[in-house]
Amino acid sequence: MLATGVMRPRKITKASLARAASALRAGRLVAFATETVYGLGARADDPRAVAKIYAAKRRPRFNPLIAHVPDLAAAKRIASFDARAEMVARAFWPGPLTLVLPLRSSAGVCNAARAGLPSIAIRVPAPKQARDLLRLAGVPIAAPSANPSGRLSPTRAIDVARGLSHIQGDVLDGGPCAVGVESTIVDLTGETARLLRPGGVAAEDIAALIGDLAAPGGNTIKAPGMLASHYAPRAQLRLNAGGPEAGELYLGFGGMPQGTDGIDLSPRGDLAEAARNLFVALRDLDGRGAARIAVAAIPEKGLGRAINDRLRRAAAPRP
Ligand code: AMP
Ligand code: MG
Repeated sequence: MLATGVMRPRKITKASLARAASALRAGRLVAFATETVYGLGARADDPRAVAKIYAAKRRPRFNPLIAHVPDLAAAKRIASFDARAEMVARAFWPGPLTLVLPLRSSAGVCNAARAGLPSIAIRVPAPKQARDLLRLAGVPIAAPSANPSGRLSPTRAIDVARGLSHIQGDVLDGGPCAVGVESTIVDLTGETARLLRPGGVAAEDIAALIGDLAAPGGNTIKAPGMLASHYAPRAQLRLNAGGPEAGELYLGFGGMPQGTDGIDLSPRGDLAEAARNLFVALRDLDGRGAARIAVAAIPEKGLGRAINDRLRRAAAPRP
């Protein structure tokens, strides 16, 4: 049961942070900015609070949530860290890296938040204001992207307000997200480190520390970010296009063909800038009502792997 209402963007102040933390403690939803995308948070130890996330997003129940904590010490209370996990956590946290680890204590993270799995996905977000909120909340906060499941992820407070207009609550407005694509997810529950989702930390940088990352194993759960169709605009996407055809708008990279109508993700061909602009650009082009968006080829390296992953899922046939 969801009250009809509005998600209200709020300036971040000491007072609004304290209010948001007490809303979270009381089992209510709060949307907040991270460096990746805006998250829709609920206390992870409370099945009723977690149920509100699944309902608000219409997210399939079998898709587990990422627990957000303010620091490594808090992460260690709920997950088991081996030497390898400790090393990558120290290298990339706070930051856009999610680690899947064996669950240590279910006290902080209820079954519903983990979709019943014996492992836990966990992350320390970069913005100080997000970590302040988590510290004030005092419990792990489950927080998937603050958008209806399957649609474009929100990278501005206004995107959250528009996408989740059917629910009530606050959106802590931290401005546009600095990274703009979701976290990289690495599964460290087994001997072999596996890349479950490319994201805001380049897989190459993780591999430099712990060796190459394997592909997801056969029994890996099919969580939202791993479904074929996800991150989808209304328009159909045509990938690796040299330019637009009749009736198409163009999503370019590193320069637009002359006279082309569309948006260049990064005129100077910078992958971090392109990642930052990706979801807003897709929203804007979608908003212009084009039936099709042609998309330039993006280099498959560094953040380009995350961008291409999102574009492939955005282009996939819809269920
Ligand atoms: P998001 O939809 O961005 O919140 O990301 C959630 C993702 O985290 C899912 O798509 C899964 O790929 C991954 N995930 C969360 N919990 C687990 C877990 N216990 N084991 C494996 N993957 C997980
Ligand atoms: Mg999402």
